[in-house]
Amino acid sequence: MTMNKKLIDLIAEGYNFSISDIVSIIENNSEADDNYLFCRADKIRRSVYGNKVYIRGLIEFSNCCKNDCLYCGLRCSNLNPKRYRLTEDEILECCLNGYKLGFKTFVLQSGEDLFFTDNMICSIIKRIKENFSGCAVTLSIGEKSEESYQKYYDAGADRYLLRHETACKNHYSKLHPDKMNFQSRIDCLKSLKKIGFQTGAGFMAGSPFQTSECLAKDLIFLKELNPEMVGIGPFIPQSDTPLGKYPKGSLRLTLVMIALTRLILPHALIPSTTALSTIHPTGRELGLKAGANVVMPNLSPLKYRKHYTLYDNKLSDGEESAQCLKQLEARVKNAGYEIVTHRGDFIA
Ligand code: SAM
Ligand code: SF4
Repeated sequence: MTMNKKLIDLIAEGYNFSISDIVSIIENNSEADDNYLFCRADKIRRSVYGNKVYIRGLIEFSNCCKNDCLYCGLRCSNLNPKRYRLTEDEILECCLNGYKLGFKTFVLQSGEDLFFTDNMICSIIKRIKENFSGCAVTLSIGEKSEESYQKYYDAGADRYLLRHETACKNHYSKLHPDKMNFQSRIDCLKSLKKIGFQTGAGFMAGSPFQTSECLAKDLIFLKELNPEMVGIGPFIPQSDTPLGKYPKGSLRLTLVMIALTRLILPHALIPSTTALSTIHPTGRELGLKAGANVVMPNLSPLKYRKHYTLYDNKLSDGEESAQCLKQLEARVKNAGYEIVTHRGDFIA
């Protein structure tokens, strides 16, 4: 047995790994060791969630953003995307379409758009909960005050996704403008956990200036925070951004980070992301085989999808579209898993 396989076993058994342990796994180029890691992660996910894959309907309800993250095509300095906002009724209509297709979780995602006041967000949450009983609402609308988060929770929101982006302060400052602050992001995550949200953290694999040590720190951070959800996708350059000429994150690195996350957080809900499908034709299936257990097809109105340009060539049709659920089900089945349509809450 190789050193790395032994390490993988130890991490799966709860060993308190060090930065250099993780660096050794990331920088190891053995396909056999990678496959060992993926199998181990798959075994763990099956022991908690069986072969079930949960689906979430993603509604990208506004591409307006006050922030200027250097990697994101929605950043406020980018004048190219045609900005849009869905009305409350349009959002409800997306949910209705999704509900008819079998979706029981709606993920409301947007840029940090101050047009949507807390009252408006709460009204949207309440209307979804009233109209689609038994459904879960996930928010992914960025950094807010603890008071605002509490209002959303009280209005009925169940989950909140806020990727920490990187657990390395220095790296964070290279990906964000000066006025965005690593500590605020972490404080937001702590507030979300404290309030009682099923909370999602996460990061991009292969983002510019990221080192293996940064990724090891991401895992140490995740182990400590113990979030219910973890979103990990490859960085993909967006040509109109300052980081648009940096290379994309690799498939292998993304899969390794998903699998390691599954090892350290056996119960986490981990999506096989659209970004992973975008960089590889079978990325979604490979993500599932490396430990992911959630997929999030797009439910946004077709006419707006092309304007949610986080990165170049972002997929929003085919199996990434909620309307193609049947094809998605077939592909997931072919990979050895089964899409289920219940809420898919975190199993403690
Ligand atoms: N505005 C909210 C926020 O930042 O938390 C939610 C929406 S934001 C578009 C969702 C995620 O997209 C971010 O957390 C980031 O990790 C990811 N993202 C942005 N630009 C990306 C890129 N160029 N490649 C891959 N993922 C990207
Ligand atoms: Fe805005 Fe989120 Fe993009 Fe940052 S990542 S620019 S906060 S949409």
